[in-house]
Amino acid sequence: MLHVYHRSTCRLCNSPNVELAVKLDPIPLAENYTLTREEARETPCFPVDLYMCADCGHVQQLDVVDADYLWSKYTYFSGAAKGMPEHFEEVAARIMKEFPLPENSLVVDIGSNDGSLLLPFQKAGLRVLGVDPAEAAAAKANDRGVPTIVAPMSLELARRIRAEHGPARVVCMFNAFAHMDNLQEMLDAIATLLDKDGIFVFESQYIGDIIEKRLIATIFHEHMSHHSAVALEPFFRRHGMELIDLSRAPIQHGSIIGVAQLQGGAHAARPSVAALLEMERRQGLDKIDSLRAFAADIADMRSRIHAWAQARRAEGAVLAGYGAARSGPTLIAQLGLTGMLEYVFDDHPQKVGRFSSGEGLPIVPTRELYERMPPYTVILAWVHAAKIIQEHRKYVEQGGAFVVLCPEPRLVTRDGESPL
Ligand SMILES: [Zn+2]
Repeated sequence: MLHVYHRSTCRLCNSPNVELAVKLDPIPLAENYTLTREEARETPCFPVDLYMCADCGHVQQLDVVDADYLWSKYTYFSGAAKGMPEHFEEVAARIMKEFPLPENSLVVDIGSNDGSLLLPFQKAGLRVLGVDPAEAAAAKANDRGVPTIVAPMSLELARRIRAEHGPARVVCMFNAFAHMDNLQEMLDAIATLLDKDGIFVFESQYIGDIIEKRLIATIFHEHMSHHSAVALEPFFRRHGMELIDLSRAPIQHGSIIGVAQLQGGAHAARPSVAALLEMERRQGLDKIDSLRAFAADIADMRSRIHAWAQARRAEGAVLAGYGAARSGPTLIAQLGLTGMLEYVFDDHPQKVGRFSSGEGLPIVPTRELYERMPPYTVILAWVHAAKIIQEHRKYVEQGGAFVVLCPEPRLVTRDGESPL
């Protein structure tokens, strides 16, 4: 059974002029841990190459993994992710402060996961409704008292919600805005849900940061779009909407938070929209050359890391990984570490004792770091690198070395830090 199809047109504007910009190694789906090594090695790999639309500049993956297959095993709970509840509280407070909401307003969150973003709105006395196809997360939201419809958002569902609950004053889509193949229908659904003075708020990884900080770890199958202001601005206009604010956020080391409304809505566009558009044009983010330069950067990092790992293994050294993270398969594949690591440390109860898909690396508990004392431990949970090093000063003091991959590959030893 085939779980992937290759689309031939731009996800935002339907142009057939899509160019391959960054060729990467195919990888297995993230967060898939099997009971046997054989099963792990049999899991299929799918492409994650990046394309750019020559007409609108949108950067995207065109190899689309079937949504049911991609999300059926999804076990991520945003409420359990480090720093996320605090981030959502801040975001909700900011929305309510900057765009005052009348009493009894409806707030709809698309891809609402366990309801973490809706909770602060609900606490403020507003009506809330979540929509998410991931059953386990939606069940958790309903248990917490956040009403959640278990389904993917569609135009039909948007019409039904509007008929049953009235128009939404706020529609949110955090992270999920990059997770959809059918973004055009999604935006029509959002426009259908919105009150004439309502706002749509979204957060997504940002292509400018991906290039600048070499965030190769954020490229996996779920991230189908890597958004930019230059591509989004005309996209919203084609669907009867307009961007009114764009800000950068440090989540995942590089995200944008955008606010849009129906054309002619109550809010004036802020200078931030024109400013980001101007900056992107100045940096050439709407040109394929910027992505080709990124591809060259990644290729250079890959050959350096690969040569280093090969030399250490030739000396007989064991290389371990730390953090069975979502970004693990892509870091290993794109940065030349395939076949180099022996095992991965992680304490997640659903991962320990299992094998990572693709290579079939055993997942072992982190306390074994001190029994096994691998001379080199590559940090795969890249977002938490600083914290992991901090927590395991003892490993470094005892002679172990951590390897940090991005943005510059470096070695952390008891003598200090050095480039790889
Ligand atoms: Zn396009």
